Amino acid sequence: MFNTLPPKIVFQEVPDHVSLAFLITGCPLRCKGCHSTDSWNKLKGKPLTKSSYISYLNRYHSFINCVVFFGGEWASPALIEKLLIAKDFKLKTCLYSGLEQVPVQILTLLDFVKVGPWQRKRGGLTDKNTNQRFYDLNSGKCLNFKFQSPNQQ
Ligand code: SF4
Repeated sequence: MFNTLPPKIVFQEVPDHVSLAFLITGCPLRCKGCHSTDSWNKLKGKPLTKSSYISYLNRYHSFINCVVFFGGEWASPALIEKLLIAKDFKLKTCLYSGLEQVPVQILTLLDFVKVGPWQRKRGGLTDKNTNQRFYDLNSGKCLNFKFQSPNQQ
């Protein structure tokens, strides 16, 4: 089980997709310079139960074609349950992880993944020098270029 902040519809986190985004609280990675330290507390937010999650998907699925989780890989049974349900709704799935490698049992249920911890000197996906990588797991392609302005290429 894990807690989530209220989900939001987002347009840029998964290129060419409209996603329902869940920010899962309780990230244990403690990256220096983390931009969302307020989400470290696992008691923040509300439990994302199976029924509350299905209720969100029923409410939003006609507006979205993807579900993105910011974290949650540290509670893999809960995350796997949610990814399988997203598949039942015929939605694409994405995980933003601070890990370099995501456990394979999660990876096999994802269409997209962002890997790599936050490093202030390297920047995020919009920065050409970032250590982070965003992959389309169906094609195996790195899609970092989709986050960067053309004059950075
Ligand atoms: S993975 Fe993300 S949320 Fe977790 S500590 Fe690092 S920057 Fe913060």
